[in-house]
Amino acid sequence: MTPTPTTANSTTALVVLAATDRLRRADRELLVLAGTVGETHVVVPDAPGDALLDALAAHAVRTVHAPEGGPGDRLTTPAVALAEAAARETGATVLLLAATPEAADVAAHLGVRLEAGVITDVVALDADRVATKSVLAGGWTTRCRATSPVLIATVRPNAVELPADVAAAAPAEAQRPRVRTHALRDTGPAARVVGRAGLPASGRPALGEARVVVAGGRGTGGDFGPLEQLADVLGGAVGASRAAVDAGWIGPEAQVGQTGRTVSPQLYVSCGISGAVQQRAGMQTAGTIVAVNQDEQAPVFEIADLGIVGDLRTVLPQAVEHLRALRG
Ligand SMILES: Cc1cc2nc3c(=O)[nH]c(=O)nc-3n(C[C@H](O)[C@H](O)[C@H](O)COP(=O)(O)OP(=O)(O)OC[C@H]3O[C@@H](n4cnc5c(N)ncnc54)[C@H](O)[C@@H]3O)c2cc1C
Repeated sequence: MTPTPTTANSTTALVVLAATDRLRRADRELLVLAGTVGETHVVVPDAPGDALLDALAAHAVRTVHAPEGGPGDRLTTPAVALAEAAARETGATVLLLAATPEAADVAAHLGVRLEAGVITDVVALDADRVATKSVLAGGWTTRCRATSPVLIATVRPNAVELPADVAAAAPAEAQRPRVRTHALRDTGPAARVVGRAGLPASGRPALGEARVVVAGGRGTGGDFGPLEQLADVLGGAVGASRAAVDAGWIGPEAQVGQTGRTVSPQLYVSCGISGAVQQRAGMQTAGTIVAVNQDEQAPVFEIADLGIVGDLRTVLPQAVEHLRALRG
């Protein structure tokens, strides 16, 4: 969606970020969307550094709400308590979070505490707070509005177009936002984090945020090499069907679909995937769908913008070669 610039700051938006190390693309999308709603305030899980504050200044953020004493070792409840405190203090009527499982958990708790309507997996939000989302395994697009004074929305990555240069688009008087810390004494019982282990770094973007996803299914025969090469030349992530995951060819974190990740990239390249309804549920809102399948009757061609009937082991290396040649 291309956000419409706001003309009057009649509404206050609160963006709930999940990390403080840097602004990810999905975070910037939330901030751009918040800017179309009205005055923007932000919640962060830890003390923000100068680099983050400068990045937030470019989005004309007024206040950054952080927990006193850092994030602690508890799940969900501190984030909920902090966002609730910030929402009450700022009078925000629109709360925006990225559409991740963790954020959905926070959004649900917040909905109860603030008596707010929660709309998940939003792909567009109008100025009059009407949200667009895709439902029933991607088969229907619905427009819905919260009847409560406060709306909480989780927004799918890649749903919002970013200005080419956010800093240039920021008001000339942009200055670092004020940092407001909150003491969170009563966060209630909660699960504690007892350890953290990072996923092995692939050098590729995260599947849920990637602008390009190259996904493989049973038709790969277990060789994801050609898909990885195409993903790398396009700067994308690698995804998979459940059949490929069940075969043990790739980890479950790569599964796209009803029981896997929902992705909404600008480009989804489906390779050797038949296009079952459960797979479509996770990728149908992609901007452009390219399908490579040797069976011209494969259901995936019903939703593909571009279909290539052929063996992926021939088609993908040719595509990689061509793209590399184009880039010199
Ligand atoms: C409750 C439930 C939840 C599910 N959740 C998910 C989910 O989250 N995600 C998901 O993906 N599935 C899910 N499924 C499974 C889903 O129904 C399908 O079984 C699955 O998506 C099939 O995977 P596939 O397309 O890779 O395999 P197949 O259906 O076997 O298709 C393989 C395709 O590869 C093509 N092919 C073969 N060789 C080549 C080649 N060399 N070059 C090009 N094309 C080739 C074939 O023509 C075929 O179309 C779920 C099912 C259920 C019941």
